[in-house]
Order: sequence, then structure tokens, then C-alpha cells
Amino acid sequence: MSIAAKSSGPATILYIEDDDASRSLVTRLLNSTGHRVLTAADGLAGIDAARRHRPDLILMDLKLPHLSGEAVTTRLKSIPSTQDIPIVALTAQTLPGDRERALVAGCIGFINKPIDVDRLPAQIDEFLDGRRDELSEPLARQFHVEYNRSLVARLEAKVRQLEEANRQLRRIDKMKNDFINLTSHEVRTPLTLVQGYASLLEDAARTRWEGDPDAEIPMYVDSLVLSVGRLGEILGEILSVSRIATGQLEPAHGPVRLKEIVDEAVAEIMSHCQDRQISLSVDQAGWPPIIQGDGELLLIAIRNLLSNALKYTPDGGRVGVSVNTFEGNVELIIEDSGIGIDPEEHQLIFEQFYVTGDVQLHSTSKTNFKGGGLGLGLAIARGVIEAHAGKIWVQSSGRDESTLPGSRFHVLLPLDQALLIPSPGFQTSQT
Ligand code: ADP
Repeated sequence: MSIAAKSSGPATILYIEDDDASRSLVTRLLNSTGHRVLTAADGLAGIDAARRHRPDLILMDLKLPHLSGEAVTTRLKSIPSTQDIPIVALTAQTLPGDRERALVAGCIGFINKPIDVDRLPAQIDEFLDGRRDELSEPLARQFHVEYNRSLVARLEAKVRQLEEANRQLRRIDKMKNDFINLTSHEVRTPLTLVQGYASLLEDAARTRWEGDPDAEIPMYVDSLVLSVGRLGEILGEILSVSRIATGQLEPAHGPVRLKEIVDEAVAEIMSHCQDRQISLSVDQAGWPPIIQGDGELLLIAIRNLLSNALKYTPDGGRVGVSVNTFEGNVELIIEDSGIGIDPEEHQLIFEQFYVTGDVQLHSTSKTNFKGGGLGLGLAIARGVIEAHAGKIWVQSSGRDESTLPGSRFHVLLPLDQALLIPSPGFQTSQT
């Protein structure tokens, strides 16, 4: 044991302990001697607290759940900002070798539980004053080897646990995809029938009540056709995203005129833009004559981006499509003067089923302001763009419905790709 000359005063002590009763007892005892006590109920929280508060001393229970006290000590000793903080083991573990293991892990002392309420404050002050318990050289070497072996064994057990958890997650994910796929296909058959009959009904109603502005049946039928159509779109989105997730999207590979695709998507939303006084502009020059890809899938992706620009821009706003070609790539930019997107959501919005804002406020329309969907449009767009060996990302300074900072979606596509290159986790062939 060695003691350096340093006198203790009120100190900040972090106590890492999973037992509530011990935490409150030690806190009360040390508070009564003027020390400030911070507590953490497990190893990871303890590491975070030590980094944040840099206490003068750490009291460590060795029998912590998940990450043992020895492992937490070793970790704290490897972090530059915490490596000099003295750590004292305070534990009920009293197996032979426990004290030695705690010391080789990096503790400077070992206090046994049950806590001796009369002695603890003085013991802590001794450690604050510089007391350091040490092992003899040969003992330290012997326990170092044993400790390293036990750490590796524990690491192996954790890796095995994680692998098993991963296998389970993959199995559940596959079940989810199979379920979505199967249910969507099952729903699609009757829906196709309903769509067919609804369209027959529409023709019949038009003929029967032609020229009668007060007839109600044609209005009901129109709404029926519209709703069934929307249901079909939703089902289509779910199927597309499930194909992307399971690697079953099969993009065709042929010559595509990007400008024509953009024009088609623009034409589809033009009347909605007019209804909502949104100006829509498209670059007329600078388009590549031809790229290689799947025109239908690219139309879906661009349609989703454009309908989002419309959905998240209030009436009277602006939507613009511009194009740049450079270094073998074409960059499409879809920009709006809408509500914008918070930076922490720039990646998340491309995940399946991720929606921002209050879903309760969503309407189901694809064109109304804040008309919500299932959070699949951008996941599909990303899947399609990545299947073309391209990239998609967004720029926006944040979401603000009063200042309307707007959003810029960028799509980068290779001009002359030889073949579709699957990105990691995305296969273009049937599996
Ligand atoms: P949805 O079909 O529900 O709109 P998306 O996957 O297309 O789903 O978009 C996910 C989320 O990203 C939306 O809930 C929306 O909040 C946000 N978002 C997408 N495009 C824009 C945009 N142009 N401006 C603001 N927010 C947007």
C-alpha cells in the first residue's frame, strides 16, 4: 500500500451500483461528510457519467449487470479523460482472488460489503488523500493473465449472444417481409376486381345520369373510384418497398430520356399545382440525351419526390426541378419552398415507414398540404436510385412551418453505367 501526501476536502464521487438501497445509503453517508455524490445504476451509464462529470473518485460495484465492474474499470482506464480518476471497488463479492482481480483491472483499492457505516467515510478520505493498494509483481502478473483470459471468454460469450440475437432479428424481419408480401398479394386480387367493377359502374353512371348536374349517384361513384384507386396506390407502394427489402426489384436496363420522365411526372401533378397556386418550374436545357436504366421505376422515384415537394409546400409556394451534368453523372435537384426537414431526420426519412411531424395531422391525400402517406415514398425512391448505382440525399436547414426554409432533394445518376450495380444489402436479381 502507498499513500501520497494530499489532503482531502469535499469531493465529487461517482458511485456505480445497481442496488438502490446501497446507492442511497452510500449517498447519505458521503453527503453527510461534505462530499457530492453522483450515481449510476449500470456500467454504461457509469462510463457516460464519468466522462461527463470527471469525478474525483469512483466507487465501483463489481457485480454489475451486463458489463462487470472490472470491465467498466478497464474501460475507464483506457479513456484519456477518465484514466486518471481513482477507482475503488466496493463489493459484496468475496471469492478468493476478487481483490486481486479488481486491482489488476485498474482499481486502486477494495472495500468489502456490507458497508461499515462508521468506517466508510474515513476509508474514502484515505483514498482521496492518495492511498493506493498494490499487488506484488509476481501476483500482479499471474492475475493479469487470468483476468485477460476471463475478459476474452466473456467477450466470446457476448459475441455469441449477439450473433444469436442477430439470427433471430433476421428471421423476424424475413417473417415480416413474407407477411407483407403475402397479404399484399392476397388483397390485390379482390381489389383488382373492385377496381374493375367500380370503373364499369363509373361508365354506367355517366351514361345513365348524363347531363344531370343534381344526380348524386355519379358523385358517389367518383368518390368510390378515387378511394379504390388510392388503395391500389398504397398497396403498390407496400409491394415495391417489400420487393426492395427482399431484393426482388428487377429493374429493366434500357435507354431512358430523363427529361421525358420528369415531364410526365410534372404533367401528373400540374393541375394540383394550379389548384394550390404553386408555381412549378423545370429546367429546359442541360438534360442528358439518354441514360441507361428502368424508365418505369425512375418515374416512380421522381413522382414520389415531386409529390412530396407539393405535399410539404403550403399553397402559393414554389417547386423547381433543375439538372446538372458533370463527370459522367447527371444530378437532378427537386427543390421546394416548403416546411423543410430537420437535419437529424435527413437520413431517417429514407427509412421504410418513417414519417416526420404529427401523423394525426396527415390527410391521406397525395397532393394536399401535409397530405401524409405511409412513409414509404422516399424508401422506394432510394431503392430505385440505388438500383441504378445512384445516390439520393436531402439538404434543408430545418423544419419550420412559419419561415418555410424549404428542401432540396438531390438525385445523382451515372450517365453511362454499364449495368446496374447492386448496392450493399440490395440485390437486383430474384433471390
Ligand atoms: P410519405 O409518403 O408519408 O410522405 P415519404 O417517405 O415520402 O413518406 O417521406 C417521409 C417523410 O419525409 C414525410 O413524412 C415528410 O415528413 C418528410 N418529407 C419528405 N419530403 C419532404 C419535403 N419535400 N419537405 C418536407 N418534408 C418532407
